Amino acid sequence: MQRLEGIQNGLRLSVTTPLEEVEAAAAKEETLVLEFDAFRDGRGFSLAAVLRERGYAGRLIAAGKLLPDQARHLRRSGFDAVELGEGADKAAWDRMDQAFSGAYQPAVDTAPTIWQRRQAASNDRDLQGLADRLNRETEGKDAEDILKAALDPALGLKVGAISSFGAESAALLDLIAKEDRDTPVVFLETGQHFLQTLSYRTQLTKALGLTDVRLVTPDAGEKATLDARDDLWKTDADACCDLRKVRPLARATAGFNAVITGRKRYQATTRARLKPFEVLDGVLRINPLANWDGDDVEAWLDRNDLPRHPLVEQGYLSIGCWPCTRAVQDGEDARAGRWSGMDKVECGIHLGKRQVAA
Ligand code: SF4
Repeated sequence: MQRLEGIQNGLRLSVTTPLEEVEAAAAKEETLVLEFDAFRDGRGFSLAAVLRERGYAGRLIAAGKLLPDQARHLRRSGFDAVELGEGADKAAWDRMDQAFSGAYQPAVDTAPTIWQRRQAASNDRDLQGLADRLNRETEGKDAEDILKAALDPALGLKVGAISSFGAESAALLDLIAKEDRDTPVVFLETGQHFLQTLSYRTQLTKALGLTDVRLVTPDAGEKATLDARDDLWKTDADACCDLRKVRPLARATAGFNAVITGRKRYQATTRARLKPFEVLDGVLRINPLANWDGDDVEAWLDRNDLPRHPLVEQGYLSIGCWPCTRAVQDGEDARAGRWSGMDKVECGIHLGKRQVAA
């Protein structure tokens, strides 16, 4: 939560204002300043929490008679900032905002409660045991068996898939469609894809009969703040991938505890130790093609007469967003054309703790 000095801009309302009037004002205002008449008056906290629960996405600033001890409670109730008067002890506000690392009760902020963290740790342990068992049971088996094992209803997993609809994506999507064409497939619509990728997505979805392809876009507010001109990739590719891929994927897969990916060991050194089953950020990652190489993919595409991404014949062997993808030369690795010239090989979606890949 920000500490702001001096009188802030925005519509100022007393915390004694009836909720209906505050809501009516919030519908028109991008910034509300709620003024506390006494630190013992809890109505400001309730107003902030209700506004957030009902979807107010504007800026909420707390002002008036408040104590540093209330910093964290203000933040957890939905305030973005507190307006500090002259002589306020800024260090005390900073200290009290960070005084506790966890909370037992859920609030409107997104920080997980202690109970949720314990539950996630327990799930991680259970999922890791499952991943170890499935890796043992599927050792030496082919991709279809690995996928079949993962989709076994007896496991009770909520499974989705990620696909970039890129150069090799048709193989995994075909395997998935053959097993269950209603499996949700997440496509990260970064807004920076080649037009050929978008038309290929439509073509492949239809050809395979996939019924649940979900287009996931960056959060509009985050994008307006961080990359209004769509050129963040020029100055900070990691931040751009975080905005357009990592965060949207985390939101899109929040309801899944297992995610199928098309990653393969041969693609990059960062994937050299990839197993068919692994746990990442509390989610089981299923990589049925981990053992495949480029020839295996080609053979599958040929054997099943699958449509190819139109850019492959122009030398694009791994395809992501257009600003960060180039065709590769003979003898280069397939992924050499991704973030070429940058010190970057993964977008972050497969790296853990909000590390994801394409
Ligand atoms: S691949 Fe490039 S354009 Fe796409 S999200 Fe990452 S940095 Fe941005």
